[in-house]
Amino acid sequence: QSKPLHSILDGLNPAQRRAVVSDAATVAILAGPGSGKTHTLTARVVWLVDHVGFRPEDVIVATFTVKAAREMKHRIGRALGNGREKRLILGTFHSIARRYLAAYGRYIGLAQRFGIADDADSRALVERICKRLQLPLDPRAARAWISKKKAKGAEDPSKPASKTASKPARPDPHTGPGLKDLETCYQEYQDHLEKSNLLDYDDLLVRCVELLRKHPSCVSNIQIVLIDEYQDTNGVQYDLMKLLAQRHQRITTVGDPDQSIYGWRSAEIRNLWKMLREFPKTDEIALEENYRSSQSILDFSLQVIQQDQKRYQKKLKPVHNRGSRPVLRRLKSPSTEADWLVSEIRRVHALSGTMLTHNDFAILLRSASLSRHIESSLGKAGIAYRMVGGFKFYDRAEIKTLIDYLRVIQQPENNDALARIINVPRRGIGTGTIKDLLEEAETSKLSLWDVLSKHCRGDRNAKTRITKHAEQSISGGLLRPLEDIRKLIREAAVPDAAPFGLVQMMERLLTKLDFQKHLEKVHAEDHEGRWANVREFVNLAADFVRELDVAEDDALPEIDDLEQTKEVEVLPRFLANVSLAADAQTGDDDQESKPVVTISTIHAAKGLEWPVVFVPAVYNGSIPHARAEDDDEERRLLYVAMTRAQTLLYLSCPLFSANGNGERTELSPFVEPVKGAALNKGPCLDRPVMEEIAKILRRKLPDEDSIYQDLPAMLHLEDNLFPVDPEAARAEAKGGLNRMGGPSDGPPSKRPRLYGPA
Ligand code: ATP
Ligand code: MG
Repeated sequence: QSKPLHSILDGLNPAQRRAVVSDAATVAILAGPGSGKTHTLTARVVWLVDHVGFRPEDVIVATFTVKAAREMKHRIGRALGNGREKRLILGTFHSIARRYLAAYGRYIGLAQRFGIADDADSRALVERICKRLQLPLDPRAARAWISKKKAKGAEDPSKPASKTASKPARPDPHTGPGLKDLETCYQEYQDHLEKSNLLDYDDLLVRCVELLRKHPSCVSNIQIVLIDEYQDTNGVQYDLMKLLAQRHQRITTVGDPDQSIYGWRSAEIRNLWKMLREFPKTDEIALEENYRSSQSILDFSLQVIQQDQKRYQKKLKPVHNRGSRPVLRRLKSPSTEADWLVSEIRRVHALSGTMLTHNDFAILLRSASLSRHIESSLGKAGIAYRMVGGFKFYDRAEIKTLIDYLRVIQQPENNDALARIINVPRRGIGTGTIKDLLEEAETSKLSLWDVLSKHCRGDRNAKTRITKHAEQSISGGLLRPLEDIRKLIREAAVPDAAPFGLVQMMERLLTKLDFQKHLEKVHAEDHEGRWANVREFVNLAADFVRELDVAEDDALPEIDDLEQTKEVEVLPRFLANVSLAADAQTGDDDQESKPVVTISTIHAAKGLEWPVVFVPAVYNGSIPHARAEDDDEERRLLYVAMTRAQTLLYLSCPLFSANGNGERTELSPFVEPVKGAALNKGPCLDRPVMEEIAKILRRKLPDEDSIYQDLPAMLHLEDNLFPVDPEAARAEAKGGLNRMGGPSDGPPSKRPRLYGPA
């Protein structure tokens, strides 16, 4: 069945080819954006399975996002055929760790059904602990401290990765009495997770490290481990990588130090050099051609990253033509910025004829909170969009409620989830009562579920302290609603026989809760949209089940000294997928579905590319972010955003910041020194420019007539959507803005009407 050699290696350049077929045990590919690192890694996986003969189930591939994993799996599938890609152990580090823990976690004392506390859960838990114990801590900082602690703790096997906090290695802002509070908070936090049978993101990795140290046979089949976006691995992931590969010590990593943007989550660029030190025979391969972007976009981006004096220098040459100059534009306010950006999307889209669809446009934001104006402008223009990373779908109240129901069904001792849904839809159980019940649970060392059950059974033994208030409210008519919810959960938890049982169960739950009514009652103005979200969530579950045709966890190998768990339950896997995907993606990636503009955080856009990219709000305080600790990392973040663009790149900046108090902004210091290289208006999109774009994208340009047939409509559009902004014009007249852009792009066109707004 194996493909002819040339089809895998087709079109690769010599360095890429060498990387694909290298027979060194450890291979490190270190190269800039768009140089084909991911492309090469994908080809290497195909090569290893098809030509070296590794079984797919013996190959581990770690990607940084769930979306990247899905894309890579898809590409490998096309090359391998026979659905063999489904047998690969391919996913993010977190999902790989989860799979091993689901299959073998009981060997390190994990409960069979553990749940995952996602970032929001962890944050909420820390907040509650700080409040309850009156710890004078910033919950956000405390959460970060705990996370760092866990990430560090696992690095050294001689130090227990446990609650007993040791002195931090680096000077810590929280010393003295603060440190003590942090440790208390950590201890409480960990106790709570353990009691509720929850693992947070860090635990997934740390516990998997523990598992693989104690039971190496779990991975005795693994031939090789390959890692994309290696520059963003942290200490625990480094250990995990080595442990996964412990049998044969074959590791391939690809990465780019200039794109390390997760230092705030303990990622360590040093892991790049650590690997080279620990495996001195590593085959180091550099890729030097950039296949993604036009020359002017690449030059502009390099000018930004080269401001970092300490960076590791690499070569990166464009293979494409010069293309259109990047745009840097200042506008009066965030809302005029959003309107301008949307007008550019419309203009470029219309002028490109059929060459570009809305899928080809992305708006990349430093922080999710910047999306409001853009969403509203897109909405006004009737352009559909999808939100990726940081915001969106899973954060919506109605979806969170449903997820909480599913979590309680999976795991009734999840106190937090149960407390959140106990009165949604309204059952007349007040927050005071919920607090009392939680307190009762905490003091009597029971789960909230057990406390409920106890009350429902009417058994109140002397050991349990119950506040007068709860006592009164429960005897005063709350027994019924408590019983109802218990019954509801118990009935829903009937095991889902067929995989589609999950979807049926969700439907049953929605009916029982009368959820649509509930939304109508609580969200009078937008209940329809919310109900649509709920339907979308059910569809997502159906899609998930459909994709499960090869049961993921079953792909784990037989292990001689451990009996194999055949975990076929769908719900825990769906929930794990939801919590791990919550970072990345809203849902459908269907190629067939209608084209939509992408709004993404820069963090979630890593590794991806789009023909046209907008990076709004490039002002000081947004990027670099006011709260960021490391300016170099912020610069790399901007570099990552800019290097996502293939043919058109737009940076923009409002004169006043988006935070509402009308502060005047300053252009980002990363952009200030290079602004002369940019245009200050939308580029001319005449025929020659369009042809260059088509060449980079290797697409067909529609013939001239059809491109420009929309011209009357375009003119109309320009008249209405590019109003002269008097304030910006005045500011510009004062000389504040007009030196922003460089000279105009080429000689005046004979088609001035095709230019963007001046
Ligand atoms: P990033 O650092 O942003 O993750 P990368 O190095 O992983 O980038 P890829 O995403 O693999 O780069 O490749 C960038 C683009 O270049 C993709 O569209 C890919 O298909 C294309 N590409 C890579 N190698 C070649 C090649 N040899 N010939 C033509 N196109 C290529
Ligand atoms: Mg990549």
